[in-house]
Amino acid sequence: MKKLDIKYNVNSNGCFEVTSHALDGDGYPMAKRGGKSTPLHRIVFNETYPQISIEGKCVIHKCGNTKCVNPEHLFCGDQESHATVRLTNGTTAKGEHNGRSKLKETEVVKIFLNKKDTNAELSRRYGVDRKVIRDIKSRKKWQSVTEKLST
Ligand SMILES: [Zn+2]
Repeated sequence: MKKLDIKYNVNSNGCFEVTSHALDGDGYPMAKRGGKSTPLHRIVFNETYPQISIEGKCVIHKCGNTKCVNPEHLFCGDQESHATVRLTNGTTAKGEHNGRSKLKETEVVKIFLNKKDTNAELSRRYGVDRKVIRDIKSRKKWQSVTEKLST
């Protein structure tokens, strides 16, 4: 949580209860991101597991504590992704936020075909470096996936 200025207390359940941010009506600590008010636990989840896209999905508290931002207590609620399984069986690599996140082929295709959004937006959305987006678009990376697609 280096980039986010979050202060919290750890309770007996291991929950990181946020004390530095105001709660919204549902009891979730909120933070401003890109001018929008966003639940802090989503941001924390996104920072911790950038390889998991939470766009349009729910980030759920396993502990049921809405004030909690312990990444270990959060999972992404999408049955189709393996995020939940990866998180609950503890195999998610802790050091994996170095910008070399794994993208699924379907995501690479979406990035490659996306002409509407800027690389910066795509990089945020998919939790990868802007360079990765550029490399996908210029077919430097993932060429096996994009070579059949027309530009
Ligand atoms: Zn918790």
